[in-house]
Amino acid sequence: MKNKGIIILIVILAVLMGTAAVANMFSYTATEYALDTMCTVTAYGFNSKSAVTDAFDTLKKLEAKLSVHRETSDISRLNREKRAHLDEDVFNMIKTAKMVSDDTNGAFDITVKPLVDLWNIKGGGPVPSEKEITYRLNSILNADIQVDLEKRDVYFANSDTQIDLGGIAKGYCADKVAKVLENHDIKSALIDLGGNVRTIGKKKGKVWRIGIQDPKKKRGEYFGVLSISDKCVVTSGAYERYFTENGKVYHHILDPHTGYPADSGITSVSIIADDGAIADALSTAVYVLGVSDGLALLNSSEYDDVGYIIIDKNGKVYISENIDFEITSESYVEG
Ligand code: AMP
Ligand code: MG
Repeated sequence: MKNKGIIILIVILAVLMGTAAVANMFSYTATEYALDTMCTVTAYGFNSKSAVTDAFDTLKKLEAKLSVHRETSDISRLNREKRAHLDEDVFNMIKTAKMVSDDTNGAFDITVKPLVDLWNIKGGGPVPSEKEITYRLNSILNADIQVDLEKRDVYFANSDTQIDLGGIAKGYCADKVAKVLENHDIKSALIDLGGNVRTIGKKKGKVWRIGIQDPKKKRGEYFGVLSISDKCVVTSGAYERYFTENGKVYHHILDPHTGYPADSGITSVSIIADDGAIADALSTAVYVLGVSDGLALLNSSEYDDVGYIIIDKNGKVYISENIDFEITSESYVEG
């Protein structure tokens, strides 16, 4: 009886306020560990619970295909056998990765896997020898990934080649999750895959306000706020994963030309774009390229619809004109 009364009340409210407004009253949030990071999805609307549940289901399926830590994943199979017929998701990521790699003169390069393994940043090092680094650099230098666009076949011409999609996967997956939510008729949502954020629509009628991590502060402490809707924002920073040896920090974004963690004078790069995979790959690439080459790339005609927030090691912030970003910390100034 009581439930019936509540339902009648909701129906009356829906008529009075409009269905969209009532849909906004319903929301569902879930947080789970996936893709090596904490993922949180919040959706607003009548279908929010089933939509978010379905979103995590999709995320887990993507992870099973992508993970370099699982022997059965498509990527592990490709790394072992050097050729594979791939499904659309894995193939699309490799295709986009190759494009960004070409555009960035190899600053972004998924064939860094042998170096990623050598550095073992997640496991805490240690710093490898110069000789080992040079040896693995050769496999990157000689890598030749061939793709058959029609058949979705991928072939590594060099038997040393191995790939790691860690620099592009979260952005790609955030887009996929957004599509799943939209298929459930969700008109408002926030997807956060370890700091790789995608928004759908608006939050209660207003644009989403996303805090951008202060690279020098604890996780969750922001240095500014970005206002967006229906966009993706992906941030790369050394603070995400690193170890310290003899007082020096060694982090997870490697320069494929030197074999060492990138030391380009940048402390954080955020890329704002429609396409999450491109945003993700570009954030890693620009971190490697540094301010000058990074800005030249982002301001070029190819990427001029992409937004950026770049912080250099002196706390100077470079912000593109096509975004709405406000610095809120006094430690930073616009460059
Ligand atoms: P992100 O956090 O998106 O900047 O990506 C960093 C992750 O991508 C690392 O943990 C590695 O797995 C991988 N990676 C590191 N350096 C590169 C690079 N130069 N190009 C492509 N992927 C990279
Ligand atoms: Mg990235």
